[in-house]
Amino acid sequence: MTRLTGKVAIVTGASRGIGAGIATAMAAEGATVIGCDVLGFSAPALAATEALDVTDEDAWAQVVAKVLERTGRLDVLVNNAGITSPESVHESRLEEWRRVVSVNQTGVFFGMRAAIPAMEAGGGGAIINISSICGAAAVPGIAAYHAAKGAVRTMTKNAAITYARQGIRANAILPGWIQTPMTAGQSADVNDRFLDATPLGRPGTPSDVAGAAVFLASDESAFITGVDLPVDGGYLAA
Ligand code: NAP
Repeated sequence: MTRLTGKVAIVTGASRGIGAGIATAMAAEGATVIGCDVLGFSAPALAATEALDVTDEDAWAQVVAKVLERTGRLDVLVNNAGITSPESVHESRLEEWRRVVSVNQTGVFFGMRAAIPAMEAGGGGAIINISSICGAAAVPGIAAYHAAKGAVRTMTKNAAITYARQGIRANAILPGWIQTPMTAGQSADVNDRFLDATPLGRPGTPSDVAGAAVFLASDESAFITGVDLPVDGGYLAA
């Protein structure tokens, strides 16, 4: 398990769900992983954990500075933290819209902006942004979530093109329906609709997504940048 040996990675939203799966898998592959979440948490498998609200640009600067102080480099950034909200366009309250966009989209911008200079100084890096099948295909409602996850895909392509010559790759993962506390909090109707539309006929797991993230962080994907990688049991192919 040495596919990420020597690499230093920041993973946001790492205390549970997909983020915890990615952080643990990267650590198991030899990476020095700094797991971040909005509240402090403990994760013995990781090199360190930090409290980081991804909507706080000053906190981003502090976390990246701390990582550089401790390890001297930053190779991988996984922008995973995300929230959802059921509101449709006509019922969306501006405050709720801003909350979802602020975490899911502006948080990704802050993360990339804080990490890119550090990656560039180290000769390159890999950015992995967690979008969603909802960034590529629609379901009713969840208007702000759709808006932000679609934006994450194009922001990822923009970073891929802009920083390619600096050795920085940027790719997006589009998870399908994954068993996590987020989906456990959704209505049974919504969950059933996603599962019924999943050709492989089972829910995904955080480790399904983690496998893709490890690949995109590793040198095995050295010639891959700017892609959307669905990890969705065939949902988007149907
Ligand atoms: P989850 O179980 O709700 O975990 C998300 C984590 O992000 C939580 O630990 C949460 O902390 C943290 N977080 C929320 N706001 C944050 C902030 N402002 N700053 C830092 N951390 C914050 O969600 P998940 O299902 O693992 O989802 C992870 C990512 O995958 C999200 O971007 C989600 O949109 C995406 N995704 C999930 C699915 C799915 O089916 N599960 C499908 C497609 C895409 P608190 O709970 O303490 O706030």
